[in-house]
Amino acid sequence: MKIIIVGGVAGGATASARIRRNDESAEIVMIERGPYISFANCGLPYHISGMIAERDQLLVTSEEAFEERYRVDVRSRTEAVSINRKAKTLRLRNLTTGEEYDESYDKLLLSPGAEPIRPKLPGIDSTRVFGLRNIPDLDRIMKHLEEHNPRRAVVIGGGFIGVEVAENLHDKGIFTTLVEGADQILTPLDYEMAAIVHSHMKDKNVELYLSEKVEQFEDKEDHTIVFLDSGRRLQADLVVLAIGVRPETTLARESGLELGETGGIKVSNFLQTSDDSIYAVGDAIEITHSIGGYQALIPLAGPANRQGRMAADNMIFGNQQLYRGTQGTSILKAFDLAAATTGLNEKQLNKAGIPFLSCITHSGSHASYFPGAKQISLKLLFKQDGTILGAQAVGADGADKRIDVIATAIQGNLKVHDLAELELAYAPPFGSAKDPINIAGYVGINVLNQSHELIEWKTLHQHLENKDDVQVIDVRTSEEFGFGSIATAKNIDVNQLREHLDELDKGKPIILFCQIGLRGYLAYRILKQSGFTQIKNLSGGYKTYSWAVDKQANPDIFDYEDIKLRDPDEIEAERMGSCAVSAAMVAPNSTGEVHAINAVGLQCPGPIMKTYKAMEALDEGELLEVTASDPAFGRDIRAWAKKTGHELLSVKAEKGLIVVLLRKVASTPVPSATDLKNKDKLTLVVFSDDLDKVMASMIIANGALAMGNPVSLFFTFWGLDVIRREDAPHLKKPMMDKMFSTMLPSDADHLTSISKMDMHGLGAKMIRKVMHDKGVETPGNLLRSLVDGGAQLIACQMSMDVMGIQKEELIEGVEIGGVAAFLAEASESGTTLFI
Ligand code: FAD
Repeated sequence: MKIIIVGGVAGGATASARIRRNDESAEIVMIERGPYISFANCGLPYHISGMIAERDQLLVTSEEAFEERYRVDVRSRTEAVSINRKAKTLRLRNLTTGEEYDESYDKLLLSPGAEPIRPKLPGIDSTRVFGLRNIPDLDRIMKHLEEHNPRRAVVIGGGFIGVEVAENLHDKGIFTTLVEGADQILTPLDYEMAAIVHSHMKDKNVELYLSEKVEQFEDKEDHTIVFLDSGRRLQADLVVLAIGVRPETTLARESGLELGETGGIKVSNFLQTSDDSIYAVGDAIEITHSIGGYQALIPLAGPANRQGRMAADNMIFGNQQLYRGTQGTSILKAFDLAAATTGLNEKQLNKAGIPFLSCITHSGSHASYFPGAKQISLKLLFKQDGTILGAQAVGADGADKRIDVIATAIQGNLKVHDLAELELAYAPPFGSAKDPINIAGYVGINVLNQSHELIEWKTLHQHLENKDDVQVIDVRTSEEFGFGSIATAKNIDVNQLREHLDELDKGKPIILFCQIGLRGYLAYRILKQSGFTQIKNLSGGYKTYSWAVDKQANPDIFDYEDIKLRDPDEIEAERMGSCAVSAAMVAPNSTGEVHAINAVGLQCPGPIMKTYKAMEALDEGELLEVTASDPAFGRDIRAWAKKTGHELLSVKAEKGLIVVLLRKVASTPVPSATDLKNKDKLTLVVFSDDLDKVMASMIIANGALAMGNPVSLFFTFWGLDVIRREDAPHLKKPMMDKMFSTMLPSDADHLTSISKMDMHGLGAKMIRKVMHDKGVETPGNLLRSLVDGGAQLIACQMSMDVMGIQKEELIEGVEIGGVAAFLAEASESGTTLFI
């Protein structure tokens, strides 16, 4: 039998070797367009940083070695250009000589992979814009790195490859920006799980842009400008495009093979195409999702290799092996974290219309008392009957093992109840007597039998935004509460809850939360057995909530001109997060003595509590270095230092640990308003909707922003008209509110009055015409540039209530606040104006 295989890497090379092992007499020809077969595409990003030191380590085998061992006729630099299915021949083109010829086959296997998506954006052909799919792509990037020594890179696309490339460019010492069009990176993860990775990347000083799409590139003499749809422009010495792949189906399509609904080559469960003599595997095919049951594209190396082996068997022995479908188990190293998933996530389940329950747990990778334990955040999704639908794990250690166990449990049809019973290897350095998987099982069982009702972070968030009448109770200690909590929460420590039951209203829903969910569960059980009925516990606790509601991106952290001009050594120190800590800088205010404490293995709030106690024992000016493994510690310590007034000198994230350096500042820690005052900050109270006054406030605010000053605008009473949306939805309102709505201007561009010479509205029209003729921006445009420029817009809650204006009627990006919000802004500002 003569078999031709198109594609000589994951699926193709595996199939060739397997066919030979099955049949010594088969004639096997393997066609590969590129110069190398069987290279490690998954390892490509790691050569950029030097983690995989030698390029040749990526070449798993050579053409000669493969031919010698398997007696396969390997033809690299050869392209399969068309299939004559009737004659059973394949037209091949030698890419070195240009010669074309036909090769006959009895059976043909297509494993042509996927092609990177490269939209036709203006400027995309720039020599500074790269992709990464194969060795020649990598060679091009390495050559650019060597010849141009870039300092600023922009990676476009926050999928697995984009994040890996960003990490390796960053590790190479390049200031790296990651731009993602969606509101989160790594879409196989749900939002709150991806938020952990966002936070970690920010700690690593990677600049992250979310919900931003690239529109074009423009080459300048020594850099390229990347234009984002928000109007932002990023300067880069190197751009890597990783916005996804699509199945490589040209050959299949042009020869009339059937394609599936997703655009991949359609195959049967035996991996046979619509032509019995042709099989197909890998990234190019459409598979059935083994849990969702729907058709999907899942371009991963594991499935491609398994399919290659299976198709080889079916081609030689006849169709015997059925492909079970792909469940999408995958893992990625994102700096010090691993992010792993299996099965379906929340978005996919919703899309497929599959009802599900979920729980989030945070556990240690091994016993907390044994050094080096790291946190694993684990999300489990399951059906009401306990069937496991999917799981996601993020952590610096042990996430891989947990996801692999759950992936295996899914294949073995184990249920949530079985996870609780799994007997997993345990000794303190490796795990816990209650493994994170057992714990997820326990929580899942409690959810299923309704002995514990959970509420997700986003549902709680909606309750708070809608001002629903719920009692939110923080059952952590008063110290933890003091370091930050949910705005409307009341603090009742779980240990004192029994004594404070009379402070809770049995007639109103109660939402409990603690740090990770455990104490919330204990509180839940106390309340349940005390006759309370409407209780829910926050899934994943405050930890998940605060990660998810935190600002996810960190745009504009790099000043490109500055990066270009300054001493590279100094910037390098800054990039590593150690900028402020040279001995000379620390000396003036301190004794120079550094005390160190180890908070590794402690779950939050352990590290903060330990820091607090250690700080109490220090004298003013002394330094404290804290090492912690809780990934939220980087963010928590910033809030803590701000609140207590101690000086945060550096935050470094290395190998799953957060190391911070603090200086004790004063014995009365809470900083006064004057200490906090930023003389450059401008706060404007916009009270009026007179066009001239609004223009004045918009122009001043835009001017301040342009000078790099922080700006807050507080819109109250008639000023609220400025931030109304013209396309506001129709809302049910009482009669009086409706009247107000119709009488007031619909948005900033339809203001009807001016403060002088109003002439029943004629004055406003005249001014608008003059502004137009003289090229002055409209109030609407000025407002948009304030939002884009990062100004903080606050709408006065009381005025909204009085005027019957609802949040949905306001433009995006406006926060709702009370007088306290205004006073807080004003107290931190150097200038406050009332217009
Ligand atoms: P490929 O391995 O891509 O092989 C297809 C080959 O076919 C190509 O070499 C191509 O040149 C050749 N070809 C195409 N058309 C023709 C033609 N007409 N004639 C001749 N030859 C042709 N997956 C994971 O599971 N984990 C990871 O960590 C991971 N990391 C990755 C990192 C990078 C940078 C990349 C690019 C991919 C990564 N992947 C990862 C995906 C994984 O590599 C693919 O899923 C897998 O290689 C698919 O195997 P395949 O055989 O379908 O295609």
